Amino acid sequence: MQAVCLTATRRVECLSVPDPSLQAGEAIVRVLQVGICGSDLHLFRDGAIGEARASLPFVLGHEAMGVVEEVASSEYAHLLGKRVAIEPAIPCLRCEFCLRGDLNLCPNHLFLGLPPKAGAMQERIAHPAHLLEPVPDSLSDAEAVLLEPLAIALHAVDLGKVRTGASAAILGSGTLGLCVLMVLKQMGVHPLFCTDLLEHRLSLARELGADETVNAAQTDVVAEARRFTNGRGFDYVFECAGVDDTQWQTAQIAAPGAKCLIIGTNPAGHVRLEGSAARRKGLSILMVRRSRLTLKRAMSLAALGRIPLARLATHTFPMAQCQQAFDTAVEYRDGVVKAFIRME
Ligand SMILES: [Zn+2]
Ligand SMILES: [Zn+2]
Repeated sequence: MQAVCLTATRRVECLSVPDPSLQAGEAIVRVLQVGICGSDLHLFRDGAIGEARASLPFVLGHEAMGVVEEVASSEYAHLLGKRVAIEPAIPCLRCEFCLRGDLNLCPNHLFLGLPPKAGAMQERIAHPAHLLEPVPDSLSDAEAVLLEPLAIALHAVDLGKVRTGASAAILGSGTLGLCVLMVLKQMGVHPLFCTDLLEHRLSLARELGADETVNAAQTDVVAEARRFTNGRGFDYVFECAGVDDTQWQTAQIAAPGAKCLIIGTNPAGHVRLEGSAARRKGLSILMVRRSRLTLKRAMSLAALGRIPLARLATHTFPMAQCQQAFDTAVEYRDGVVKAFIRME
């Protein structure tokens, strides 16, 4: 079967790989669609993300959905033939942290598409059956893929114990930032202030309910946030870009007593906050580690039609055009928000 493999820096190719074999507790999923995420782009650009270095060729991708073709035990027979969203993190379910429900913090976990675990951009994968969630017919394949980042946004909002009627800033309006925006909008968080470097993302943020948007390439975000809030700052700040600039702005635009949710992964491996502002304002800094049992709730919200996930789905490429797909995503070409690869 074919897989989309990273074969060199900034080079992806369709290569033949062996078919997966079914182990106890697993299912074989025929993968239909996979999203290209920021972390895939780190691997594409650098061949590594944080301390995880890919040995090439390496199969990319973790935002995925497909159809269950085979299950290892009758316990999961109800999944056969079903379209499923895939939870990409595979916790050990045995350690202290898993047993207390913090599956996202499992130190022994594997993650699809994060070295050493091969990713979802292959025609079939074997995956633990308990991590497959049947998707209702009302959700498209693209929406099913986007449940993964939406689940992360829900976890961030849970972690922040976000209160309705309070204000929030979202720094970085890519897929994650826009998922956070849609959830906060639903909850009645107001006003909502979004930043990005790309005008097309800011215009989408406005369509999805942002009250104010700022292009950080042209405008001083901190000055604009102070003006917009009359110097008060925001009750919640969601850092969704994972770069030094947005991290540094986080404490500066927060209100006294605010909560700052750090979601973006800074490839430099650090979080750079303005310490004096963070201390003076008594900020709570919360690190968001992926999602914690929120995939089902993400699905429930999306199926209600309250979260217009399809608006983020801007580009779909066939597997044979994987290089073009990654080039488009990494260079932010052509108004891309979320690019997908079809695996059929
Ligand atoms: Zn991702
Ligand atoms: Zn564990």
